[in-house]
Parts: sequence; structure tokens; C-alpha cells
Amino acid sequence: MSDTLDPTRCPLCGQSNRCTQADPERQGESCWCFEARVDPAALERISPEQRNRTCLCPRCAANLPPEND
Ligand SMILES: [Zn+2]
Repeated sequence: MSDTLDPTRCPLCGQSNRCTQADPERQGESCWCFEARVDPAALERISPEQRNRTCLCPRCAANLPPEND
């Protein structure tokens, strides 16, 4: 397993997590994750070190299936 984590990507689905906190130019702005309720089941699917370093995307945080483009 690689230990390189991209803080802008969701650790579950690999899509952009759209977290403003992961973008240095947007730090301090409010993020969807401040208001969204993250499903505990979704958090259980990622490792503790990922929890502290990367954000889930909105869909995974709500425990919904990833978007298909
Ligand atoms: Zn995701």
C-alpha cells in the first residue's frame, strides 16, 4: 500500500472531496464538512491516520454511493 495521501481526494472513492481546508488558497473559508453530518459508518471505513489527514467527499460522508460520471 502507498502511504502517499492526497488531501484533496476522498480516501474512499478517490474523487475530489471539495474540502476548502485542503486547499491552501482557500484556508479559513467555510467548508461543506463544517455543516454536514458525517455518517459514523463512513468514518469506520477509513483508517485513523486517513481520518486525520484527508477529508471524505460529500457523498461518502453521507454514506451514499459515489457519483458516476
Ligand atoms: Zn468519496
